[in-house]
Amino acid sequence: KNGGKKETHKANFEIDLPNAEVGKVVTRFPPEPSGYLHIGHAKAAVLNEYFAHAYKGKLIIRFDDTNPTKEKVEFQDSIIEDLALLGIKGDKVTYSSDYFQDMYDLAIKLIKEGKAYCDDTPLEKMREERMVGDASARRERSIEENLKIFTEEMKNGTEEGLKNCLRAKIDYTALNKTLRDPVIYRCNVTPHHRTGSEWKIYPTYDFCAPVVDSIEGVTHALRTNEYRDRNAQYNWIIDALGLRKVDIWDFARVNFVRTLLSKRKLQWFVDKNYVSNWDDPRFPTVRGVRRRGMTVEGIRNFIIAQGPSRNIINLDWSVIWALNKKVIDPTAPRHTAVDAKDVVTVKLLNGPSEPFTEEKPKHKKNPEVGKKPVVYSNQVLIDQADAEGMTDGEEITFMDWGNVIISKVVKEGDIVKSIEANLHLEGDFRKTSKKITWLADTKDKVEVVLMDFDHLITKDKLEEGDNFEDFLTPQTEFKVEAIADLSVRDMKVGDIIQFERKGYYRVDQAYSEGKRPVLYNIPDGKTVSRY
Ligand code: ATP
Ligand code: MG
Ligand code: MG
Repeated sequence: KNGGKKETHKANFEIDLPNAEVGKVVTRFPPEPSGYLHIGHAKAAVLNEYFAHAYKGKLIIRFDDTNPTKEKVEFQDSIIEDLALLGIKGDKVTYSSDYFQDMYDLAIKLIKEGKAYCDDTPLEKMREERMVGDASARRERSIEENLKIFTEEMKNGTEEGLKNCLRAKIDYTALNKTLRDPVIYRCNVTPHHRTGSEWKIYPTYDFCAPVVDSIEGVTHALRTNEYRDRNAQYNWIIDALGLRKVDIWDFARVNFVRTLLSKRKLQWFVDKNYVSNWDDPRFPTVRGVRRRGMTVEGIRNFIIAQGPSRNIINLDWSVIWALNKKVIDPTAPRHTAVDAKDVVTVKLLNGPSEPFTEEKPKHKKNPEVGKKPVVYSNQVLIDQADAEGMTDGEEITFMDWGNVIISKVVKEGDIVKSIEANLHLEGDFRKTSKKITWLADTKDKVEVVLMDFDHLITKDKLEEGDNFEDFLTPQTEFKVEAIADLSVRDMKVGDIIQFERKGYYRVDQAYSEGKRPVLYNIPDGKTVSRY
């Protein structure tokens, strides 16, 4: 709506929830256990929880497990864990599969009332008929015949049953094509991860959602607004079955540039080893973005800020990373790293004869972050990029130490090989223009690996008809070897820090004997920090 500009997350969107009464609202988040939770699902989950909480109501986490071909226990477990990571715990966890018997009985009721029929029209032909608004040749089957096919053939997954599906008899000419006799049951003989081989027919989403919402006492069904056309169908099913009404509230899907959010496509990247797994830092999954350094607070602030928007927009990731930066900056300890490949040695002619260590604050503006040891010595390392352009006699500042006067710059072509300098600690750091990071060249320094990543696909927004496999970014992983201060040795997986003048990093692999720590660059919403 506002082009990705800063938004306040004090948005008050209570007004948008129709017929809501404090203490009575029941919402639900209905993930299909067919993949890991991604940032789009997180939006749906956070909004459902937000409203349940705002109205002192209840939130149901419902696994929408009606398609055994795609679903697995692994996904189910990961979804519960990821919701917990996001701070979301439903008042209860349910399963669409808990209602297979109820839904089956209701489907029979529809058939008996002449409101549903079995159809064995081949898929292509059925699609064509729905497109042009023709009636199926099976539309006028008798109730007896429909009952027989549904309860004997389809229910048992027989050869005849497999050819059929059950369709709601609504209106094959309706302008809203979702009302053109939608399929509400189909056969699937794949065993279900919860109910095994008990069932061979499964309700479609279109039938399952209104029925289970109504039975479970959901008062407000939040749906992404690409389903808006289907609202009429949702309401038809509730009316046809004489069930309790449910209010639908729709919200916009989130999409991000150069990002796929379809579980099927993400699975492809995992299967083809383009990424390490579902928690890959290049993935838009909750695990992926967390591994990249996104905080729960960052995600939640982002979603609440986006909440009321009904426009489907293709967001730039910088919006969410900028919000995350506000969360991490006040507490991220400051440390030092220099590029291992391009390092320049500076000899401090009047430097300390023996290295010594002093405790310094980890964060200049926030003493609560604690202190860290800083090693001083007469030989230090700086980045080539900082050394370039230094001239004999120039006065510069070593951050957190003091001023230094350069006495000799040894070069090979444009490359600085080494520097000699003298400490000038009485100098005024406000008068120097170069303030650079440095690291004592002692045995205390630690070799680290810094990683950065690019988006997996090259095109901002894939259009209908684009094959994502034609838009793969050739290189998406960037590795730099660096040398860092000794504190890095004590960091744990998940720690978030800032290497001064380089950026924010999250520890992905901690230091251990013989193993270099690995840190991932955390985007800050400003710099495109690829090396
Ligand atoms: P996929 O396209 O990967 O199959 P899905 O939407 O079918 O995803 P579900 O598990 O059915 O996945 O989704 C659970 C909930 O998350 C639904 O309410 C759905 O509308 C919502 N959701 C999914 N993707 C997004 C998104 N990009 N933005 C907002 N909400 C989303
Ligand atoms: Mg779905
Ligand atoms: Mg989907």
